[in-house]
Formats: sequence, C-alpha cells, structure tokens
Amino acid sequence: MLGIGVLPVILAGLFALYFVTQSHNESVASIESNLISEKIQEVNRFIDETKRNLELVVTVSDLDKEFTAETRGILLNQLIDANSAIEEASFIDINTGREISRVSRAYQKLGQTPELRDESNLESFKKVSAALAGADNCKSEAGNQNYDYIGPVYFNASGPAVTIAAPVRNAANCAISILSAELNLTAVNRIAQSAALGKTGYVYIFDQSGRVIGKGLRAGDLPDNLSSSPITQDILSGRGSLSTARTQRYVSLNGLPVIAAGTNITGLGWGIVAEWPSADADSVLVALEVQIIIFSLIVFVLVLLLSVLLTNKIVGPIQQLEAGTEAVAKGKFDEPVTIKTGDEIEDLGLAFNKMTEGLKQLQALKDEFVFIAAHELKTPVAAIKGYLSIINDGLAGPVSDQVKGFITKVLNANARLIRLVEDLLEVARSDAGKIKVDVVKTDIVPVVNETLSELKPLADEKGIKMVYTPLTPTPAVMADNGRVREVLVNLIGNAIKYTVGNGSIEISHETTEKNLVTHIKDHGLGISKDAQAKLFTKFYRVATKDTANISGTGLGLFIVKQIIEKMNGTIYVESAEGQGSTFSFSLPLA
Ligand code: ADP
Repeated sequence: MLGIGVLPVILAGLFALYFVTQSHNESVASIESNLISEKIQEVNRFIDETKRNLELVVTVSDLDKEFTAETRGILLNQLIDANSAIEEASFIDINTGREISRVSRAYQKLGQTPELRDESNLESFKKVSAALAGADNCKSEAGNQNYDYIGPVYFNASGPAVTIAAPVRNAANCAISILSAELNLTAVNRIAQSAALGKTGYVYIFDQSGRVIGKGLRAGDLPDNLSSSPITQDILSGRGSLSTARTQRYVSLNGLPVIAAGTNITGLGWGIVAEWPSADADSVLVALEVQIIIFSLIVFVLVLLLSVLLTNKIVGPIQQLEAGTEAVAKGKFDEPVTIKTGDEIEDLGLAFNKMTEGLKQLQALKDEFVFIAAHELKTPVAAIKGYLSIINDGLAGPVSDQVKGFITKVLNANARLIRLVEDLLEVARSDAGKIKVDVVKTDIVPVVNETLSELKPLADEKGIKMVYTPLTPTPAVMADNGRVREVLVNLIGNAIKYTVGNGSIEISHETTEKNLVTHIKDHGLGISKDAQAKLFTKFYRVATKDTANISGTGLGLFIVKQIIEKMNGTIYVESAEGQGSTFSFSLPLA
C-alpha cells in the first residue's frame, strides 16, 4: 500500500524537480542570449552610424580648386558636430598618405589648429589605400563598406578608442581622398551599463586582446584586463565552448558563482559575456524546488496516513483471515474471525466462520466414526488372536507344521492390526482431548530397563546393540509410568525399525534446571530437514526408497507428542539424513 502510494509521489516529485530545473536553465539561457544579441545590435548600430558619417561623397569636378582646405575644414567640422563620439577627423592624401586637413575636438576647445601628420605608415591608410589600389576605385558599385577600416581598440586619456577610415568619393564614384577618424568608445560602456539582467546580472564587452571596453555596474571587482581569463580566450579564439546557446556555470573573476553566456562580436573581433550570479538567477528555481519538496512531503504524509488507514481497513481483516486459515490448517476449528468492516470483507469473514463450523462438525463426526470403528474392531481382533493362539499351541488338536507356519503369519498380521486399532483409538482420544495420564513421582531408570529387555529380541534380530547410560543418580520425574513406557517403546522401537544393518542405539539422560531430558540416539537412516518439520503430525511417514519396505501407521510420533505434552514435557528431534537421529523428550523433575 505504502509502495503503491509513495512511489508515484516520489517519482512525480523527482520529475517535477528535473523538468523545472531544465526549463529554468533554458529560460536563463534564452534571457542571456536575447540580452547579448540586443547589446551586439546596439554596438553595431553605434559603429555603423560612424561609418555612415565617414562615407562622404563630395561633389567636386575640379579636385584642386573645389576640394580646398576651407571646404575640407567645413566638412570635418560638420562631421564632428554630427557625431559626438568622433574626437578627431582628418582627410588624407590618397597618394602620399599625408594629412591634408585635420580637426580635433580637444584643439577646437583650446581654439588651436592641430598640426598635419604623415599617416602613410598607419594601418588605417595602408589598408584603405591597398583596398583601393587593388580594385578599380571608380567603378565599384558594391558599396563603400569593402574599403572601410576599423582598427584595433587602443586606450588614450579619454578611454578606449578606435580608428575608423573610409574613402571619400566624388560624384563619379571615384575615391579622391581618405577620411580617418578617432572614435571614442565610451558609448560601448554605456551600452554595457544599460543591460538589465535580473537583479544582479551584468554584461561586459572586451576588445580583441581581452581588455574591457564596457562593463555593467554590477560587475563588481571584475578586472579591466581579461586576457588571461579562459572564458575570454575561448570566445576570442572562436572555440565557442561558451556560447549564447550553451550557458556555463563557473565562478567569475569577481568571485561570484555565475551562469554565463557569451559570444564574439563578428566584424569587430570583440567579445561579449553576460554573467548572472546564480544566487539571483536560481532564486526562482530554489523557491520552486522548495515548493515542490514541501508539496511532495505533504502528499507523502497524506499517503502514509491513508495507507495506514487502508491497511487497517483492508489488510487487517485479510491478515485475520490468513491467521484463521492457518489455524484451520492446523486442525483448530475453535478460532472464529471477528471482522467488523461493514462491507464484503465482513461477509467473507462470516462465510469463513460458517465454513470452519462445518469443518468442525465434520471433524467431530470423523473422530467419532474412527473411535467407534476402532472400538468395535478391538474385540474381534482380540478374539482372533486368542483363538489362533489356542490352535497354534495345539490345544484344539494336533496341527501340522505347515498350518502352524500359516497361522503364525496370520498372528503377525493380526498383531499389526491390533497395533493399528490401538493407535487409532489413542488418536481419537487425543483429538477429543481424552488422553489420560496419571502423573506421579516416577523413577525412569527401571522403565527404560524394562523397555530395553522387551525390545531386545527385535534388536538382536537386526544385530543392533542397545546401550543405556543412566545418570548416577538419575533424578525422579513427575510422569505416568505406563505412558512413559509407551513413549519409550515407540521411540526405541522406531530407532530399531529405521536402522538398517548393524548399529547401536544409545539411551542417556541429562538434567536441566527443571527437567530431565532423555535422549534416544540411533545411527540409522536419519531424517531430512523438511520431514523433521512434519514428523509429529498425524499419519505422516517419510517416503524414501529406504523406508518403502518398513511398515507403520505414521501415528506413533503423533501420539508420543500428545502424551509428553500432556505430562508437561516437550519432544524434539535432531537428525541428519544418512547419519542417524536423536529423539529427545523432557519431563519435569519431581
Ligand atoms: P511409523 O509407524 O511410520 O513408524 P511414526 O509416527 O513412529 O510412524 O514415525 C513417523 C515417521 O518418522 C516414520 O515413518 C519414519 O519415516 C520416521 N522416523 C521415526 N523415527 C525415526 C528414526 N529413529 N529414524 C529415522 N526415521 C524415523
């Protein structure tokens, strides 16, 4: 009952925990992945905007006359006005790599004009001019992005910055100059700081060499250089064991256990990671888990109570019926069951009691029949024995040896019949509780000796030696002399009967606190463990090929047990097949 009720509860609880954990992990992953793509979009929008600002198309027909220093100055000023993140911008001569115009926000504030520099050795110039040289720079319709340059992040006084460069084209779509600008990246930090991830989660964005460009306010003590962090290296190298699809749980460099997702920002070579301290991210999960566990425990207790109630209601009566059936199996018909459940099981109990009552009557009838039949047989078999003895002894006239031989056989068969009748009468008396014992203080030694001399011819016939070792002195017991003799005849008789070939039988005593125990030990056939359990029941005989030719009724040990118990003693056997048996019975000390 308990199993049926509790097992599904435990399984349901475990499944619920598993699925809640699974779906929680998926939710965390999708929240982090959405946040990361949102932030990547913001970064790209910021960079793209600057690129669009730089991709100038200048409608000039005479380059020297119309693309003058003044025009270039106006264009550059317009540029830094349009995009507050551009700190400096300059036009570079497409052939020489020298700046031809330059504006700087810092110089502008001081009211000064910056000096023109030679940029021919800078990556920005080299990359863009090489791209232009490799293609027909006038005909390209593919769009200017192909020629754009975004440099690695570098740090100056105002923070991280990048150089962005792009060709300037005229109306005929021919490159006439290169426009280069320094872009201040503090906006990236703002983008990182505006990321909301639960109560304590944050994102950080780092450049191509692992230096932090932007990080959320809750990133705590996260170092500014993450180049040695395996997570950063993993993302920058593109190995991607941490991705937006696959979150990882680890202890972040700021010391917090986190659930993290991350990826690289394609096109820029940067990386972005979202870290959500697990204490916060899992708080919902923990609450849910606690609820599931509490709920499961409540159901568990309810199932426990219910199963106890059900057990009492269903299993209790069944156990009573089981006990009743066992009693009937042992021949006890006086133990009716009392089931008061008010349902079919109570009806079953009543039917069971009726059946027991019927069996009891049947048993009584059978006992009576056996008793009467045995009693009625007693007189004729005694008469047969008497008259046959008279004939056999020649008292009724001369008898030939042949007839004598036949009569002896009939006498033997009649003796067995007499024994059976006596046994049956004894069993009938025992069943009716009418075995009579007359217990008095008895010295058992002479009883044993008399029994031994009575059985000696039988033992001698089989070459069996019987050795009796009484105690000195053997204490007296409370017993019925005649009954003890009956018991001894049975047990020693069996010991002789079930010993094949020569052998010895040893009879000895032992005293315990309140009893005298008598042992009858033989070295005969022995009895298996299974048979030992049924040995003292009515009509039980061990059926092996060794016992097949030994006649008996299977009643002797049953009667012996009844007699011993009637005298307040006990009887038991110790035996091993093929090695012999020791039957022992106790009688109370006088
Ligand atoms: P039985 O008339 O068959 O001897 P008992 O009740 O005296 O009936 O014994 C029951 C069975 O127990 C016997 O059939 C026999 O197989 C077994 N048994 C009894 N005593 C011994 C013994 N000393 N050694 C081996 N088997 C025995």
